[in-house]
Amino acid sequence: MGERTINIIEPSRQAGALQPPLRSSDWPAPTGLLRDTRGRPLHDLRISVTDRCNFRCTYCMPKEVFGKDYQYLPHADLLSFEEITRLARLFMAHGVRKIRLTGGEPLLRKNIERLIAQLAALRGADGQSLEITLTTNGSLLARKAQSLRDAGLSRVTVSLDSLQDEVFRAMNDVDFPVAEVLAGIEAARAAGFERTKVNMVVKRGTNDHEILPMAQHFRGTGITLRFIEFMDVGATNGWRMDQVLPSDQVIARLQKRWPLVPLAASSPGETAQRWGWAGPDGRHDPRLGEVGAISSVTHAFCGDCNRARLSTEGRMYLCLFATQGWDLRRLLRGGASDAQISAAIGDIWHQRTDRYSELRASLPPDQGTGRGRRIEMSYIGG
Ligand code: SAM
Ligand code: SF4
Ligand code: SF4
Repeated sequence: MGERTINIIEPSRQAGALQPPLRSSDWPAPTGLLRDTRGRPLHDLRISVTDRCNFRCTYCMPKEVFGKDYQYLPHADLLSFEEITRLARLFMAHGVRKIRLTGGEPLLRKNIERLIAQLAALRGADGQSLEITLTTNGSLLARKAQSLRDAGLSRVTVSLDSLQDEVFRAMNDVDFPVAEVLAGIEAARAAGFERTKVNMVVKRGTNDHEILPMAQHFRGTGITLRFIEFMDVGATNGWRMDQVLPSDQVIARLQKRWPLVPLAASSPGETAQRWGWAGPDGRHDPRLGEVGAISSVTHAFCGDCNRARLSTEGRMYLCLFATQGWDLRRLLRGGASDAQISAAIGDIWHQRTDRYSELRASLPPDQGTGRGRRIEMSYIGG
């Protein structure tokens, strides 16, 4: 077996870049059975396709930090669609079955449909295709839903924090009207998307009064609303624990109004706890659908976290709260073979120890799973 080199090669404006291990020989072929140090498989890859966004959500890209002078990555630094597709193919051989495109705002990446079509054409060794999903703020969805569907996108998740126009405009901080996001969700339905999800970040004192109206709006529509605890991701959103409304309290508020029953996880490593709306017989009524609670702060789910993340400029991150990523672009552009890149991905995952949410309470504020500053959500995606 070749030797692994792990060096910090440059300080980044976001976080340190780690040099991926490059073996000179004897790389094993991927088996699809890769496990990290805690026995966790690699199933899910989240790819950030742009670090830009047309919103300035206060919990993600606060205007004071991401102002007019903020320097985004130059275009040449971004992975090309061909580079992303090549990596996706290599990740698939290690067991990845699901890819989520994110950002920044992924629909701002020009010709994103072309990337989706390339990813949709990939097949695993068993002939299986990828499930390709995308998380969007919905602002461009009304315009793009049909072309995304035609390109082969499997599902969409739309972020929406309030139905009240005033609250929504204040939270996106660019005065974007809620009606256009709702039109985007409707366009997704009309284009044939099913199992659409809506993500609501709940900030106590800001939009928690919108929990019941949001639930009422989406109950029985086939859309799954998921409540996300406001997270301490990155280092710029001024996170405070007293602004987190624990998911247990969100569910308790819902249960006061409608009966809910707990549902089993639909797949290993699922981030949301699922709750089904109950019918008059007290059992889950599938026609009413379900809600989800993503409790990244109050209930750590690192135990079966099977997600890797690929940043816009091609760094592989092993945790949302990481401080350093592995510079796969260096391998792509440095002439490494498929086998070498695949071996590097395997080595990196194999030595993964990350479990930030389990350790949060015992760590100093702002510290991630390594030294240095934590990466921002808009850089790595949700
Ligand atoms: N721009 C797209 C969007 O908003 O859907 C995709 C990228 S965004 C970073 C992905 C998800 O992260 C969104 O659902 C957003 O609400 C969530 N998010 C961002 N900052 C967050 C925070 N501090 N806590 C919890 N969720 C956050
Ligand atoms: Fe943009 Fe999404 Fe972050 Fe909001 S949550 S600022 S829409 S990247
Ligand atoms: Fe996964 Fe890191 Fe989140 Fe834990 S804190 S669930 S390891 S991304």
